[in-house]
Amino acid sequence: MTSSARPLLNRRLAEFGTTIFAEMSALALKTGSINLGQGFPDTDGPEEIREAAVRALRDGRGNQYPPGPGIPELRGAVAAHQQQRYGLSYDPDREVLVTAGATEAIAASLLALLEPGDEVIAFEPYYDSYAACMAMAGGTRVPVTLRPHDGSFRLDLDELRDAVTDRTRLLLINTPHNPTGTVLTREELTAIAELAVERDLLVVTDEVYEHLVFDDAEHLPLATFPGMRERTVTIGSAGKSFSFTGWKVGWITSTPELVTAVRSAKQFLTYVASGPFQYAVAEALALPDTYFSAFRADMLAKRDLLAAGLAESGFEVFKPAGTYFITTDIRPLGESDGFAFCRALPERAGVVAIPNAVFYDHREAGAPFVRFAFCKQTGVLEEAVKRLKALAEG
Ligand SMILES: *Cc1c(COP(=O)(O)O)cnc(C)c1O
Repeated sequence: MTSSARPLLNRRLAEFGTTIFAEMSALALKTGSINLGQGFPDTDGPEEIREAAVRALRDGRGNQYPPGPGIPELRGAVAAHQQQRYGLSYDPDREVLVTAGATEAIAASLLALLEPGDEVIAFEPYYDSYAACMAMAGGTRVPVTLRPHDGSFRLDLDELRDAVTDRTRLLLINTPHNPTGTVLTREELTAIAELAVERDLLVVTDEVYEHLVFDDAEHLPLATFPGMRERTVTIGSAGKSFSFTGWKVGWITSTPELVTAVRSAKQFLTYVASGPFQYAVAEALALPDTYFSAFRADMLAKRDLLAAGLAESGFEVFKPAGTYFITTDIRPLGESDGFAFCRALPERAGVVAIPNAVFYDHREAGAPFVRFAFCKQTGVLEEAVKRLKALAEG
């Protein structure tokens, strides 16, 4: 204990003390509820990729510090992936950096690229680490709210334009978007790109759900738009694409100058991480298309199962075009406070969800929305759907 009255957690982080996920996961455990709160799969990714990690470990590859920028095999695989999928050319030696998951990529990018007082525009609701990383970097967050419109959450382009000031340094974009499931369209991305070029902004784009897009939606990397490659840091991750969230292998692709800047911050965060797993992820990125289409089809069936169940239970469902989350509106159930609803849901129905309000600065804008994850086994989702029917029955 210190004798001073000063709080231990500093002012920059005071508002980020504990996350809702800890509270809700504890509640799930206590009540024996099905946890659709936190977004991680309950089955592991491909067996041959797990085996590749075992082989690397046994062969003594990656058990000691790997190279700072990541192993050449993985940097090459990331570059090949961007080339084959999107026609984006990156030099594996100068334009790819391996990170400890997308989380470190986000942190290192913001710590490297922001001066205290710089404004960062991000769409709310936003992924929970964005606000904390901006705060650590001394940046000022400027949220632009995605609002429900014809069954999905959309961006108001005028609002985005109005949010840019002389202090704006960076746009932090996320598509496919967690928690709303929105996939930005070609038109929206074109407008964002034009704005970034016009106002000379840096862009960090979190594309960890690039392989999880459904129906007619298409993932378009922002770096493919005119004038964007030279100002964009693109973030990817093996956690979401290959269902190995515990491995913490992520990466960025960008220009040599931006990669060098981000690496300067990254080298003092973890320096390196996940040695043997880097070898396995290099193999994962080279998996044939059949892996990616089967992965998508599996998640699509799960989305439809949970979406139908939620609708039958009385929720308004925003059917996601991407990610493995469904955002719902609880007002048709006669509820308006997502926090209260989520705290009561385990007792009422034996299911845990997350109130979207935690992802907003303007909490009232997110109050009636609640997020469910569907990256769970079919049997688990079926049981959750059965339990949620209790809500419809009163
Ligand atoms: C899960 C997630 C991350 C973190 O990815 P890791 O590779 O596990 O660090 C980053 N951004 C979004 C939007 C996510 O959903």
